[in-house]
Amino acid sequence: MVSKEEWDRLCHEFISRGVTLVAVSKTKPLADIRELYALGQRDFGENYVREMVEKYTDLPADIHWHFIGHLQSNKVKNIAPFVYLIHSVDSFKLLEEVNKQALKYGRKIDVLLQMYIASEETKFGMDEKEIIVLLDHYDARKEQLQNVRICGLMGMATNTDNEAKIRSDFFKLHNFFVFLKDTSFFAKEYFSVCSMGMSSDYQLAIEEGSNMVRIGSLLFGVRN
Ligand SMILES: *Cc1c(COP(=O)(O)O)cnc(C)c1O
Repeated sequence: MVSKEEWDRLCHEFISRGVTLVAVSKTKPLADIRELYALGQRDFGENYVREMVEKYTDLPADIHWHFIGHLQSNKVKNIAPFVYLIHSVDSFKLLEEVNKQALKYGRKIDVLLQMYIASEETKFGMDEKEIIVLLDHYDARKEQLQNVRICGLMGMATNTDNEAKIRSDFFKLHNFFVFLKDTSFFAKEYFSVCSMGMSSDYQLAIEEGSNMVRIGSLLFGVRN
């Protein structure tokens, strides 16, 4: 677990740079989450539906639960009653399902669109064209999609030691984020979140314009 001194230093850095810290607690026990909660942390990220539901049930109600993993449409209903922000919307079908479940619970659910920026085969997300197509669909169906708010983009850089490559991945995401923010063809009142950066690359991400970082191992220690 992160030391109190290191925690204070990190929080100061994020607050002074206008960056929201999502503490990624996946695989970590409730006791670890409670420890960070006691230090003031309220935003936690999980990547499995069942694990997030269990933790939500057992922990204080003022926690903001961020869903950051790949989300299957048939599982949206389990997190819809309480999820704070879904970072990983990667299809129009999933967006429609989030809207449907949000409506059922009388909520508006905030989401980010996951963009594929890494030069790898394994990561989920959409490319620029697919995002534009999704936003076109969204724009055409806005009246029916009032229970979902598209609040920004999320992405993961290539898993590499090459800083220049990581930086160029983040640059690409931020550049597209700014482009969409400036474009008027969809409801953009809420479009303000650029979620990028993890334990190994958050400094580069912030330098490239991130305003939300998702950090796990640096806070909780390495996962098994
Ligand atoms: C696990 C995970 C993180 C955090 O990774 P760390 O390297 O432990 O900081 C961030 N984002 C996503 C999408 C993740 O799945």
